[in-house]
Amino acid sequence: MSDPVAWPFQEAKKIKPGSAGEAFGRELSRTGAGAPPVIFQAGFGPSGLPHIGTFAEVVRTTFVLQAFEHLTGRQGVLYAFCDDMDGLRRVPKNLPRPDLLEQHLGRPISQIPDPFGCCDSYAGHMEKKLQEMLDAYQLPYQLKSSTEEYRRGVFNEGLRLILQKVEQVKAVILPTLKEENREDWSPFFPVCPKCGRLYTTRVTAYHPERDSLSYVCDGVFGEPPVKGCGHQAEVSVLFGNAKVGWKMDWALRWLSYGVGYEMFGKDLIDSAKLSGKLVRLLGGEAPAGMSYEMFLSEDGKKISKSVGEGLAVEDWLRYAPLESMLYYLYQNPKKQRRLYFDVIPKSVDDYLVELARYPSLEEGPSQSSVIWHLAKLKGETPAYTGAINYSLVLNLIQGIGADDAKLLYGYLLRYDPQAAENRELVESLISAGLHYFRDFIEPDKKYRQPQGNEALLLATLFQLLKNYSGDNAEVMQAMVFLIAQVFKIKPSELFKVIYQVLLGQDQGPRFGTFAKLIGKDRLAEMIIRVPKVREEVARVPLVIEEIKKFIEESPPEKMLDLQKIKV
Ligand SMILES: [Zn+2]
Repeated sequence: MSDPVAWPFQEAKKIKPGSAGEAFGRELSRTGAGAPPVIFQAGFGPSGLPHIGTFAEVVRTTFVLQAFEHLTGRQGVLYAFCDDMDGLRRVPKNLPRPDLLEQHLGRPISQIPDPFGCCDSYAGHMEKKLQEMLDAYQLPYQLKSSTEEYRRGVFNEGLRLILQKVEQVKAVILPTLKEENREDWSPFFPVCPKCGRLYTTRVTAYHPERDSLSYVCDGVFGEPPVKGCGHQAEVSVLFGNAKVGWKMDWALRWLSYGVGYEMFGKDLIDSAKLSGKLVRLLGGEAPAGMSYEMFLSEDGKKISKSVGEGLAVEDWLRYAPLESMLYYLYQNPKKQRRLYFDVIPKSVDDYLVELARYPSLEEGPSQSSVIWHLAKLKGETPAYTGAINYSLVLNLIQGIGADDAKLLYGYLLRYDPQAAENRELVESLISAGLHYFRDFIEPDKKYRQPQGNEALLLATLFQLLKNYSGDNAEVMQAMVFLIAQVFKIKPSELFKVIYQVLLGQDQGPRFGTFAKLIGKDRLAEMIIRVPKVREEVARVPLVIEEIKKFIEESPPEKMLDLQKIKV
């Protein structure tokens, strides 16, 4: 048995359970018998709706967690941490009620009303959406609300430490700031008890002996700018009266939970380094982790985790089964890839190939397959060995232009009787394929009329199909080559004519497979429906004579398929 080499296992091997932070985490010691579970964290900024980047991070962390549990026999727990104590920095453009949100700039988003009007707060709404997304795919996780954790005192010990070591913290952070921001900088943002804002307060003195600090609410913050209320007081730094800025916050979580593993986008590499220094300063350790590449949008721009752009999870599910997305997210996270609609068909087909290959894998390599992870998640191993894939379904839909899922299923069943055993999967490919066809393929179709002798070429193809009584894909494929040879053109040119005239696109499925799939009679019908082709039918017998001559003069070993073509 060889060791699994896939990245989740490589990542899992980097985790060192039992870091200083673990002993510190009260949560862990309360879990009872045996070794405490190792904490895996994925962060979510609930100032925007969760999107595929958030989902990807949770999914990939789950893969590492599963590998870790397999390798060590220890339990892992995934915290989906929502930083809802964070203050609202600007009014998001894609949310309702900007007027309402504007009044709350600088307040923790857990303290701002829900602009959608359905949940008890802005952050609550986003967290509910995140939960719905993760629950729908049965990902195991625990949602952690920053506000709740601060208020429960989970971070108190860490906050005390930061207060005691505030000068050392400053010594780490200040050199990374612009000169003009250094003077008033503090790791703490007290929440002004009078106006409820975080980002208008300015710390004026620290009192570590009383776990408190003094502040004045006199800052100006945001766009449009909001002014502090002028209040000044001494407040405790414990139980949610103050929050720490986000790089400090990251370190605080690592310390307090004893996080063993966390991955992050490449854009956060420097932040992670800084948070690593800070957590060590407090006596903890940075978790193991990796930085992943950001996905690129359609035009090659980076999709950041916090901005809702690119492809949404539900978009993918409209066009393909979920497993194909998990397959896509499983591929090397260090490689830069586009995340746009056009990656979907190939992902589905690659996933189906992987499904077919999986049962033949030995134990080590099998754990390197995404199917192993999917089986862990679902509690059963998905399997499929049929001949039908997404491209084939799309070809069929293009070929017969049907909108009728039942009819399409009938065609597929004739093409591959195994479809019956995989009916659920095949039907999901049909409904997803219909969506994909309508949204992305149909609008771009441009049918053209045949030019020059192209109509005669197509009329000849029509005749050969009519004369042929079998349904062998290779024989029908050979027809195109035969006609191309007789007319002395490149086969690729003839294929292009077929695609452009019959399917309204420059490229298309393999001709023989397509002919078998939709049936030669239906294909012949499609050809003869083109008016210019009909006009040429009368000249076809002359061409047939030439074809006969061509076949007679060809060496017999090259003519195996051609002999089956009835001329
Ligand atoms: Zn205030």
